Amino acid sequence: MNDQYGRRIHYLRVSVTDRCGLRCRYCMPEEGVEWVEHSRILSYEQIVRLVRAAAGLGIDTVRLTGGEPLVRKGLDKLVWAVKAIDGIRAVTLTTNGVLLAQQLPALCAAGLDGVNLSLDTLDRGQYAAITRRDLLPRALEGLEAALNTPGLKVKLNCVPMGDNDDQLVPLAALARDRALDVRFIELMPIGLGSSLPRRTQAEVLEKLEGAFGPALPCAQGGGSGPGRYVTFAGFTGRVGFISAVSHQFCESCNRVRLTATGFLKTCLQYETGVNLKALLESGADGAAIRAAMEGAVFAKPACHHFSAAGTAEDERRSMYQIGG
Ligand code: SAM
Ligand code: SF4
Repeated sequence: MNDQYGRRIHYLRVSVTDRCGLRCRYCMPEEGVEWVEHSRILSYEQIVRLVRAAAGLGIDTVRLTGGEPLVRKGLDKLVWAVKAIDGIRAVTLTTNGVLLAQQLPALCAAGLDGVNLSLDTLDRGQYAAITRRDLLPRALEGLEAALNTPGLKVKLNCVPMGDNDDQLVPLAALARDRALDVRFIELMPIGLGSSLPRRTQAEVLEKLEGAFGPALPCAQGGGSGPGRYVTFAGFTGRVGFISAVSHQFCESCNRVRLTATGFLKTCLQYETGVNLKALLESGADGAAIRAAMEGAVFAKPACHHFSAAGTAEDERRSMYQIGG
């Protein structure tokens, strides 16, 4: 599928739930989260139908996300079904890792290709303050289980947001001894992320170079995303930056998102897209669904404008409602 600007869209992020056991400060409020009723969430059968339609249009990579995707029961069955769709080459998962160790064997047996684990600190007290849950040991168990799974591509995602300034070097150091990509994701001014201090790529890199010496160029391959990678002397893995605000990468954007309620969202910052769940439930056939997807993707906005003043279509949802 190409959009009106000639970008090839082949990557679909699928949110399977808005629920999560953590309450990360930049993503969810501590209290009073209003969950979507179950009837409004796509069933696995509906997700599979929509991914099949998308695969017919050239989507070849699917990332399952949330909320926390592992809180939804039977996720391995969804991995298995999506992997079996013609044209889907890779199915990956973004998770906070808390439930990963116990579910990883079934997920891998179903054909999971990779895991991105979100972890902002290695300090237990700080983790409890950022996520509002004292679950660092469980997240680390998940990371360890992923790293010990042969053939599984593992990346660690950290959002630098002031509170974890002292943890950027220890987190990056995990890539020294292990075949791991540690990536720093610039805080985006979406939902609760708007009110926290952002640390830019330049600020993080300066800190890392202070600890590890000059950043060295390295192969950029291995993913379909916007990460830009460097390495440091003596490192086995890489350190990546996903800097949507300071280094906008919209020109090479290759993705769209399917929210848990079945909205095909064509840009992270706007509410533009199409309600595919309503279409499915109106009895639309595969051709009609493909046509709706194509139309929405064609009209994908040129770029976000995080640094500008808001517009009427600005996204008002938080990241857990979108899927990150
Ligand atoms: N619960 C899973 C997790 O935490 O990995 C998946 C969903 S979470 C919404 C996906 C990613 O979005 C996480 O890596 C999280 O750190 C990131 N995220 C959430 N809010 C963000 C924001 N305002 N700016 C940048 N990244 C954000
Ligand atoms: Fe949950 Fe992920 Fe949001 Fe944290 S970032 S509250 S783990 S959905």
